[in-house]
Amino acid sequence: MNRPTQNVAGHCRFCGKALEHTFVDLGMSPLCESFLAIDQLNRMEPFYPLHVFVCDACFLVQLLEYVTPDHIFTEYAYFSSYSNSWLQHAKNYAEMITSRLGLTRDSLVVELASNDGYLLQNFVAKGIPVLGIEPAKNVAQVAIQKGIPSVTEFFGEKLARDLLHKGQNADLLLGNNVLAHVPDINDFVGGMKILLKTRGVITLEFPHLPRLIERNQYDTIYHEHFSYLSLFATEKVFAAHGLRIFDVEELPTHGGSLRIYACHSDDPDRPVDTRVHGLRVREEQEGVGRLEYYRGFGEKVMATKRDLLEFLIRAKRDGKRIAGYGAPGKGNTLLNYCGIRGDLLDYTVDRNPYKHGKFLPGTHIPVFPTERIQETRPDYVLVLPWNLRDEIISQLGYIREWGGRFVIPIPAVEVV
Ligand SMILES: [Zn+2]
Repeated sequence: MNRPTQNVAGHCRFCGKALEHTFVDLGMSPLCESFLAIDQLNRMEPFYPLHVFVCDACFLVQLLEYVTPDHIFTEYAYFSSYSNSWLQHAKNYAEMITSRLGLTRDSLVVELASNDGYLLQNFVAKGIPVLGIEPAKNVAQVAIQKGIPSVTEFFGEKLARDLLHKGQNADLLLGNNVLAHVPDINDFVGGMKILLKTRGVITLEFPHLPRLIERNQYDTIYHEHFSYLSLFATEKVFAAHGLRIFDVEELPTHGGSLRIYACHSDDPDRPVDTRVHGLRVREEQEGVGRLEYYRGFGEKVMATKRDLLEFLIRAKRDGKRIAGYGAPGKGNTLLNYCGIRGDLLDYTVDRNPYKHGKFLPGTHIPVFPTERIQETRPDYVLVLPWNLRDEIISQLGYIREWGGRFVIPIPAVEVV
């Protein structure tokens, strides 16, 4: 929005209109999950644009497909089971939806992007048949070892038809943090339409764009995250594929997410809940259907970068030692965009052993096991997965013993 795009870079992945308006431009960044081994540090590293546009016809906020999903997702470092609060979230969801829909041993639950089976295992424990779809083979393998049937392919209309052909269609079709991660949103939603039973229900969770804007969560922008969704834009996409959103919940996860419930447009048993009307009205009041709403985000992001750098530089000048906590995708966007390298952050730690001994893409900050914090007693711990801040602050409460403090970078620099 700050300037017209010089070379019209592409077309809206939903409605096809030329994209002409910048939402935010975070410059060039490496793929946020491409952690480096020590022998890769001296090699050339690919960087791709993180330039986000808003479509002035349907208001879908989106990143162009600079990198194909094959490249990103076939060997993926993200294992859902390494976050306690996310595991609990999945368990609560399984309880709620089983009773709400009356799922039984005769139902089929299909999860898109089923990861390591962190969610489906809850249905398996109840004896409800499940099928996971997870294109990242190394991650799906973990699910299969747990006894969760998993298909290692990308989901879309073709796979939906293949499954239907084998007699598999879903009473519950769910996907958490996947709708935003598919480049061809029409093929994906079209696939859900095919795989859903006549009276079946879809639930999807994804970060809610108005919260991203309000809370300055620019670091949730990365190459894997193609669409940034409001209810407004999502309803348009679903309607175009013969699906209807009949209920919605606002969740605190990932800094503010929506959980939408959808069914076939002509399903007579599922009237649209007042919560959908309520959120539509609030989004409209916030301005999601007007281009002006998207203006100004870029400037707000730059201001946050300056504040964080100011804090880190001052702390370093005072001789403080600063460590990171976590190595999430969002951390890599933030560190690369802000230009924070080993000069400002000594190292980071993560609970996921897959990342230990590796280096963050772009910034080359080393990743250690969490014990490193106790061994080196840093003055500040920069919390990169700020969406888990309470969990992390309580797990790492011991840093208070040596006067250590936590730094939360988003929505504004906060020391606690
Ligand atoms: Zn559009």
